Amino acid sequence: MLNDILTHDEAALLEAILKRTRRAAVCCHTNPDGDAVGSCLGLATWLRYRDVEATVIVPDMFPDFLQWMPGTEKIVRYDKHKEEADGILSLVDTIFCLDFNDFKRTERMEESLRKTIDERAGSVDTVMIDHHPNPQIDCSLRLSMPDMSSTSELVFRLVWQMGDFEAMTSHFAAPVYCGMMTDTGGFTFNSNRPDIFFIISQLLTKGIDKDKIYRAVYHTFSENRLRMTGYVLYHKLMVFPKAHASLFTITKAEQKRFRFMKGDAEGLVNLPLMMKGHLLSISLREDTERPGLVLVSLRSVGPHPCNGIAAQFFNGGGHENASGGRLYCSLDDAVEVAKRAIDAFSKM
Ligand code: 5GP
Ligand code: MN
Repeated sequence: MLNDILTHDEAALLEAILKRTRRAAVCCHTNPDGDAVGSCLGLATWLRYRDVEATVIVPDMFPDFLQWMPGTEKIVRYDKHKEEADGILSLVDTIFCLDFNDFKRTERMEESLRKTIDERAGSVDTVMIDHHPNPQIDCSLRLSMPDMSSTSELVFRLVWQMGDFEAMTSHFAAPVYCGMMTDTGGFTFNSNRPDIFFIISQLLTKGIDKDKIYRAVYHTFSENRLRMTGYVLYHKLMVFPKAHASLFTITKAEQKRFRFMKGDAEGLVNLPLMMKGHLLSISLREDTERPGLVLVSLRSVGPHPCNGIAAQFFNGGGHENASGGRLYCSLDDAVEVAKRAIDAFSKM
């Protein structure tokens, strides 16, 4: 059985918030990943069961390999439908903030969210559900648990504690499973707690096909994406054996050559960690739309955190073993920064 994640008072507060909520927005961070989209869809399914008119609003596009999830067709993309999203936000009673710890992480949506909350202070509740450290959001109810595998796990546990899991169907179970799976690399890291496997066993009772979900997410490469993976590993990987670290870059021209689609670099940064004893991998990718912006991803192993390095060198942060950031400079300059970061990492 699972321990409660809400105190008695918090559970009562959530019930009270639900009671006064007719309409809700369920939001996540920019560049939504499996956990962001999965947790939002799972929570929205539950809210609808609780007679709340829930709309999932995401800041921008999410990868194609998440499109199969039930409910994605109703998601509102802020970048494409700003007016519609602002219209929805102007009517909501509650905003649920999922899988982010700071409004900054919603980028283009930040201003609208802040405006909604500031202008209608007192009449809009904010509920944050997240597993990133250092939450920076003021809210009516904050559920911040960095020890959890994923926000999707938190959504499961919340619905479980509220006594509604029995009533949920695969429309709840599939996205929640997907979020837990993607934030743990297919249950290969951050997933040793027995609770996680209890939760999976419960989700499977809803008739989801976990093997099919795995294939739908991970086995969907285009030929170009697979070839770009091979190309990057063969031609672009710079290995620093003494530091047990590596970095690679992906230029704008290379993205054009391999007809880069959003999501094509997803997971690539994990691959160098397949080398025995390797501890840190850094990816530097030129943004295709914004000149001078380099997107940074970091991955590390076990007790060797990379989020400090992400904050110190790359204007970012994140989880201990999976973090990211950005640099406003040329790719060559970014490589120099990354080399300094690797040097600092090796001395930690
Ligand atoms: P990814 O490499 O998949 O883009 O990001 C990995 C993780 O790093 C994300 O789940 C997120 O938690 C974190 N992250 C990425 N970019 C940033 C950033 O700019 N700031 C912070 N605080 N975290 C980030
Ligand atoms: Mn997450």
